[in-house]
Amino acid sequence: MKTNISLLPYHTFGAKVNADFFTTFSNKEELTTILDQKPNDQNFIILGGGSNILFTQDFHGLIIKNEISGFDVISEDDNHITLKIGAGENWHDTVMQTVEKGWQGIENLALIPGTVGASPIQNIGAYGVEVKDVIQKVEFYHFDKKETFEYSNQECAFGYRNSIFKNELKGKIAVLSITIKLNKNWHFNTSYGAIEDEIKHQGIENLTPLDLANVIIKIRESKLPDPKEIGNCGSFFKNPVLPKKDALKIIEKYPEAPHYIVGEEAIKIPAGWLIQTAGWKGKSLGNVGTYPKQALVLVNNGGATGEEAWALALQIQKDVKTQFGISIEPEVNIL
Ligand SMILES: Cc1cc2nc3c(=O)[nH]c(=O)nc-3n(C[C@H](O)[C@H](O)[C@H](O)COP(=O)(O)OP(=O)(O)OC[C@H]3O[C@@H](n4cnc5c(N)ncnc54)[C@H](O)[C@@H]3O)c2cc1C
Repeated sequence: MKTNISLLPYHTFGAKVNADFFTTFSNKEELTTILDQKPNDQNFIILGGGSNILFTQDFHGLIIKNEISGFDVISEDDNHITLKIGAGENWHDTVMQTVEKGWQGIENLALIPGTVGASPIQNIGAYGVEVKDVIQKVEFYHFDKKETFEYSNQECAFGYRNSIFKNELKGKIAVLSITIKLNKNWHFNTSYGAIEDEIKHQGIENLTPLDLANVIIKIRESKLPDPKEIGNCGSFFKNPVLPKKDALKIIEKYPEAPHYIVGEEAIKIPAGWLIQTAGWKGKSLGNVGTYPKQALVLVNNGGATGEEAWALALQIQKDVKTQFGISIEPEVNIL
């Protein structure tokens, strides 16, 4: 166990914050020992890659970093392959391992930072695909019940950047592994964003999972800041899903507003467009700003504190509410 440790290497925003205590675990037994030995009243969190967390202050408690490894084939036939992956594995490396073997299903989720164990927590998604599309089971340890459970896809109650792990089970469990089912017969989703254009641009004719992952990587690298160079925690806010009548009022006033139909009665408006239209694209407050190419990402311009980032987020929220009457909610976990 380490004490009074800097969290700079353990999260992507790059805020200078410390944790009182820090430890890691590589299997369930190590985790249960840590939990049994810690004082009952000690605050703690499970940490993955720290890419969806904003530390607004020092963490007075115990950070327990997940380092469970594993990449095992559970079953296989001519059409599918089912894999069990340890929660501490790096998500992007896992994607690349699967596409290099010609297995299709998570190629659109290439280059999302963080760990496999965090992927079901907010049901990570990008370019028309969500991790729920491939998840068969999530195995987790319940802190109070002191038991391991395996939830089916349905039991995880996945939604847009949401799951049971962000609601009823928030802070009560540690994901130990996920089981995913991938295709050997490929069914690509290339309808989203600039994917088709980039495939044409690269002159790709017989698309493979590896090709598509590389296309996604290229597009993402051109649009999003690399946390190794510019501190950030990805999309700061969720895209608001509005009742149809409210969204239509906005679209009438701003005919250029991008929007996506979500079922019969709801429309999603990109939070990045709302923030940009509220005047915040590429603007800064202190050492934090919005990324000039994507206003949805708050960036650390150097030496920013998490508190400064949160102050900017609150100001953006307020301005979007004033201009559009919409409350945008953070996607990032604020601590
Ligand atoms: C540049 C950039 C781009 C991004 N792009 C996307 C994107 O396209 N789509 C998308 O969905 N997200 C995106 N994200 C957000 C982020 O990468 C994902 O949410 C990712 O799944 C977080 O993983 P992590 O291991 O870093 O989680 P952390 O930030 O470490 O943790 C996030 C939350 O999950 C909890 N948690 C983590 N691991 C476990 C576990 N094993 N058991 C229980 N709880 C756990 C933590 O306590 C915390 O509440 C992006 C982030 C960045 C910085």
